[in-house]
Amino acid sequence: MHEVRLRAGHEARVRSGHLWIFSNELQQVPPLPPGSLVRVLTAAGDSVGIGLYNPHSLICVRLLGIDGDVTTLGLDFFVERLSRALQLRQQLCRGEAMYRLVHGEADLLPGLVVDRYGEYLALQTLSVGMDQRLPTIVEALRMVLPEVQGIVEKNLSRLRELEQLPQQQRVLYGHIPERFVLEEFGLRIEIRLLEGQKTGAYLDQRYHRLLTGRLATGLRVLDCFTYHGGFALHAAAQGAGEVLGIDSSGSALEVARRNAELNALQHVRFHEADVFSFLREQVASGAQWDMVILDPPAFAKSRRHVPSAKQGYSELNRLALLLLPPGGFLVTSSCSHHVFEAVFLELIFTEAARLGRRLRMLYRGTQPPDHPILLSMPETQYLKFFIFQVL
Ligand code: SAH
Repeated sequence: MHEVRLRAGHEARVRSGHLWIFSNELQQVPPLPPGSLVRVLTAAGDSVGIGLYNPHSLICVRLLGIDGDVTTLGLDFFVERLSRALQLRQQLCRGEAMYRLVHGEADLLPGLVVDRYGEYLALQTLSVGMDQRLPTIVEALRMVLPEVQGIVEKNLSRLRELEQLPQQQRVLYGHIPERFVLEEFGLRIEIRLLEGQKTGAYLDQRYHRLLTGRLATGLRVLDCFTYHGGFALHAAAQGAGEVLGIDSSGSALEVARRNAELNALQHVRFHEADVFSFLREQVASGAQWDMVILDPPAFAKSRRHVPSAKQGYSELNRLALLLLPPGGFLVTSSCSHHVFEAVFLELIFTEAARLGRRLRMLYRGTQPPDHPILLSMPETQYLKFFIFQVL
């Protein structure tokens, strides 16, 4: 196996369990084929583990685990890793049809994401090394989950560009129905794996949708960035008085309306608009809501976008607060890894203080346990979610 060597003084982070090695941390970036398996050595020549190599990416090596743990990357490796990932979900997500089966680095499968939708799987390969091994991964998934009827590759992530991989979507195995219905905590949800964003649904917010719904009984609820109606539908199902979901995507709202119908939910409407403009208009017209939900897309896709992302979050949360009377609820989240929790909290506090509103925190959440976080890799934590009540 080829070896690459770290520069002196660059082993501490890797030794502590971080799985990425950046190209500027290597003594040399040898011209090996992208996707090669390499052994990483410290400057002194000790092995720190093996990983997948891409000389064209800033993340030059993605380690596959602790040293000694892996020596080859064949079917057995994937079957073993996937079985472990599945076992955790079978315990944690008992009774759930939809969950994240593989969460990349946090399942020691760097660059691989697999979401389960009943008998169907949607996967993403975010590194050349994983991408090249797709046939083996598909075979291993079929062995570990023999009941699976179809696997689709939803490789539409911008992260693939960093690895010089194309955007593509293909059915890799079996058949994927254009539409099918699964349950999320008692709600019927239409899944369209062959269209739509992400791998299908925003599974990372599902427990938060349930919790928020429970709080919404009897309230007038404004769900901003509703997508397929997620939070709005749970609120309506739990007896919210009136629910309005806003999104800029007409096709997402079509599914949201279909979901409302599937569950025979009255009192829920959807409206196509830019959330920022819509909220400004609501404030200008003196509208009030008992609960405002903010679940925007990641505003900071990289570190250099943090300042503008913070401005976006500040404005959104300020506008939402202006619509809430005392006793009202602000349900707010950020999925930008680069905007850290303390920063996000600080900006909400700043906006609230400026408006003379006092907030109490009822709930503070992050990703659900099927999207685990490696303590040694802060990059694996991205979701912040809060429920505040205006006093
Ligand atoms: N709350 C949803 C997930 C939201 S995903 C759930 O629980 O399932 C983010 C959504 O924001 C996408 O549907 C996208 O179309 C929408 N969006 C992005 N920018 C927007 C904007 N400026 N105004 C309105 N919607 C926007």
